[in-house]
Amino acid sequence: MGEVVRFKKPRASEKHANKALCRAGFHRWQAEPGTPFDVKQGRLVTVYRCQRCGITRTELA
Ligand SMILES: [Zn+2]
Repeated sequence: MGEVVRFKKPRASEKHANKALCRAGFHRWQAEPGTPFDVKQGRLVTVYRCQRCGITRTELA
């Protein structure tokens, strides 16, 4: 019955390690398509999303 245990989410520990990197300030920013214009700021921005922890940030173009 040990087989089932193997399906335990391996991503959990992986995610934790990634979060550690993120918390250290090493986010893996990747430009996210679909939001080339921020109406709130009224100008072009580029949206970046961290591939690890999922937070986003915007950068003025
Ligand atoms: Zn991150």
